[in-house]
Amino acid sequence: MTCKLCGFCCNTMVVKAMTEEDAKIGSFRKNFIKAVRYRGEMYSVFKSECRYLVNGRCRIYRNRPDICKEFPVDKELWGAINPKCGMIGKKNISI
Ligand code: SF4
Ligand code: SF4
Repeated sequence: MTCKLCGFCCNTMVVKAMTEEDAKIGSFRKNFIKAVRYRGEMYSVFKSECRYLVNGRCRIYRNRPDICKEFPVDKELWGAINPKCGMIGKKNISI
């Protein structure tokens, strides 16, 4: 597994929709990219650039939050959101 440095993860925000209606409302919002259904749950993906991303690089790399260090924690979920990510491995993703 190799990060392709595409920057998608640092440029997006994923919000779990509690209901189908939440997911629908999410699609009305600016910067909405897509909705993803994964294991019966809906997730809304928005474009939202991290303020510490400068010229495609993390400005606080050494002190970045744990979730960034361990990303993607849930490889299958992230694989459903961004199948092109180089960090999700090659195994089939069940959606
Ligand atoms: S972890 Fe995945 S989405 Fe993030 S920059 Fe690397 S390849 Fe892109
Ligand atoms: S803190 Fe760094 S690694 Fe984490 S989302 Fe922001 S730019 Fe990306």
